[in-house]
Amino acid sequence: MRVLENFIGGAWSRSSGTTLLDVKNPATGECLAKVPLSTAADVDAAVKAAQAAFPGWSATPPVQRARHLFRLREVFDAHRDEIAAICTAEHGKTLAEARNDFGRGIENVEHAAGIPALLMGQGLEDVASGIDCHTVRQPLGVFAAVTPFNFPPMVPLWFLPYAVATGNTFVLKPSEQVPLSQQRIFELIDQAGLPPGVVNLVHGGREVVNAFCAHEDIAGVSFVGSSAVARHVYRSAAEAGKRVQALGGAKNFLVVMPDAEPSRSIAAIAESIYGCSGQRCLAGSVVVGVGEAYEAVREGLLERARAVVLGDGARPGVTMGPVISAAHRDRVVSYIDRGVAEGARLLLDGRGAKVEGYPHGNWVGPTVFDDVKPGMVIATEEIFGPVACLMRARDLDEAIALANRSEYGNAASIFTSSGRAAREFQRRVGAGMVGVNIGVAAPMAFFPFGGQKGSFFGDLKAHGPTAIDFYTERKIVITRWF
Ligand code: NAD
Repeated sequence: MRVLENFIGGAWSRSSGTTLLDVKNPATGECLAKVPLSTAADVDAAVKAAQAAFPGWSATPPVQRARHLFRLREVFDAHRDEIAAICTAEHGKTLAEARNDFGRGIENVEHAAGIPALLMGQGLEDVASGIDCHTVRQPLGVFAAVTPFNFPPMVPLWFLPYAVATGNTFVLKPSEQVPLSQQRIFELIDQAGLPPGVVNLVHGGREVVNAFCAHEDIAGVSFVGSSAVARHVYRSAAEAGKRVQALGGAKNFLVVMPDAEPSRSIAAIAESIYGCSGQRCLAGSVVVGVGEAYEAVREGLLERARAVVLGDGARPGVTMGPVISAAHRDRVVSYIDRGVAEGARLLLDGRGAKVEGYPHGNWVGPTVFDDVKPGMVIATEEIFGPVACLMRARDLDEAIALANRSEYGNAASIFTSSGRAAREFQRRVGAGMVGVNIGVAAPMAFFPFGGQKGSFFGDLKAHGPTAIDFYTERKIVITRWF
């Protein structure tokens, strides 16, 4: 069985960790590789390599760094199908979803390749008589990122291209549940010829994360994952004097007004809930039907949910894959049990779903709960599976109040044909990413990505212009010539 290696200082090397975990195909149960749980010593070796590369890389002119990103983009573009297939094998999502996953990642490389323009400072002549002032942006050193299982190619590419484009060096720890997409992406990075040590890959779990947070030579940490860990990373890395951006979990509300366009709205809502088996941080979870919209949404959603084709994401015709692991399937099923116990009406039950020929898959079928009440656990906690919770509201005010009760604030959407309702929603809803007639409100690479409240810890969001702020220090130069 293949044992994954770390990529440190431009070379592949064995982890010093002795614990190996199985990387499994969640549809077939097949073991694809073994991933090591690396140690603090491996982190230290990666940080030393990144530190050694920093002086040369940070002194490389931005136009030349941009050319490295152009090469990276070309090599990634040539391997879209290969990375998508790896992503589907390790994660379970459909091939179409996996292509989008990597595609969204590549867009960040494309955006970061504009670094000469993105990195520019500002200047003003004569701030006082005979005195000029200008700002420059400078890199800070070594940055680290920790990423979740749900978008194996994309989420690391929210960080890596900007970290290196701005002149920093970088260490990544991908999710130990899905390390294979990044393993291959780093082989491609190696092929594209970035100087040794500029980017490094360390496989592992919490020991690596805690070593990042504590390491005195890491300038900043980016984290994406569940809120409990995001909060821990934010606290411990900030305590150690680092910059931190920590993106956490979600409970996203989709509000449907009586004047919503019926069929395309329902299609977008169903895709938001069941796409990627509900394992998106932007996935719809609670659908709030306002007034007479409720019944129509319920019937439309049920019809769409029944039409979902559950199966191996690598097979044509399948529209929803398995969830990531047997443990996660049990967790989602326990939430469905809880919803039933709490008195919500289960209209479609995904528990016990089976797929012929795949006895070892982690299957949960599309699930629909009716009559969900605000205080219920299924209405408040992140389920991260293909479960729709339908809730009623009298009017827009009540719908916004329901959404704003949530401790999370990642995304929220409204479906309406009223500009006034959309504008009210956009202004008042407590979520960082807002959709208007959009089910998955995902900002593209050139806009910031991140939530509010318990969904985000920090102040500078991922990608877009905020990435340039996160990865640089602004220096202000005030000049007078005698
Ligand atoms: P997770 O929190 O279990 O793991 C995320 C990362 O943290 C992994 O690399 C893991 O190795 C590490 N980790 C796990 N437990 C740790 C601990 N106790 N100490 C230190 N490190 C630890 O999350 P996951 O299950 O991989 O991903 C799903 C979660 O990610 C969901 O909550 C989802 O909403 C969230 N997510 C958020 C966004 C966003 O933009 N806000 C995007 C994608 C995923």
